[in-house]
Parts: sequence; structure tokens; C-alpha cells
Amino acid sequence: MFKPYCPNCKTIINREDWNSFGYGSPIFTCPKCNKEFLDKRVHEPAIEGIGTDINKINISLNLKIALLSTTIWITCWYAVTIVPYKFKFPCYMCGSFLLLIALLSWMTVGRIAFGKEAKTIRKLIKESEQRLQDKEYAQKLLKYGYKVPEKYLSA
Ligand SMILES: [Zn+2]
Repeated sequence: MFKPYCPNCKTIINREDWNSFGYGSPIFTCPKCNKEFLDKRVHEPAIEGIGTDINKINISLNLKIALLSTTIWITCWYAVTIVPYKFKFPCYMCGSFLLLIALLSWMTVGRIAFGKEAKTIRKLIKESEQRLQDKEYAQKLLKYGYKVPEKYLSA
């Protein structure tokens, strides 16, 4: 976790509206010397996007595991009915194990897609969009060199 600090007087800024993910307004006003400054480590989600690569990788990996384990589980379950008697038990055990993995993977996929992480991301983007409704703020970001979408700039 980092804290933005004033490049002028090195005062550390404690702000509520940015979080440990580093999303929020990158523009800060120093409470001590009143100078405005930019901290590029803080990202405005509606402009810069959310770097949820970690979540994306996790979801695709979990989805693969979920699909694969489900397929193997179904295969094993089916195999139980056709293999010779002495192989039934191993097939059954293997199937049960894979069913467990499948369930856990599907739960993880669901949690990533609809759970807390997804909610947090949606919230961050919404907050960002609300900040950008302020034309003055949008113009400021533009001046700092951000690629502000046209919809936030036009009056
Ligand atoms: Zn300062």
C-alpha cells in the first residue's frame, strides 16, 4: 500500500476516497501548502480502466479447471456403468474426487464473476464515473494529459 504525498512539501495525504487498490482520483490537493498535484499511481477507473488482469487470469484458469473436472467427472460416472466390476470402485472414487474439484471451481468462478470482487470493481467504476460528471474535474484530467472520453467533456 502506498500513500500519495505532496511533491512540494512531502506531506503525506490521507484520503478516504482512494483505496488500497490504488483507484480513485489521481489529483490531490495538499492540505498543508494547498498545491495541487498528480499521483500517477492512483488510477481513475473510468479513464484508465481497471487493471483486473489478475481477476481475469483467475477466472479463465478457474473456468478451465471447472470445465475439465466436470468433463472428467461425467466421464468417470459414465465409466462406472460400463467398466468391468473391479474397475468400478476406482472410477467411482475418481469421479467423486473430480466432482468435489468441479464444485469448488464453479464456486470460485461464480464468486469472481458475481461476488465481492466484481461488486468492488463495479463500485469503483461507478464512483469514477460520478467524479467525471464534474466538468471541471474532467478538464483538469485532460490538462494533465489523460485521455478523457468526449462524453465527460462536452457540456
Ligand atoms: Zn504540500
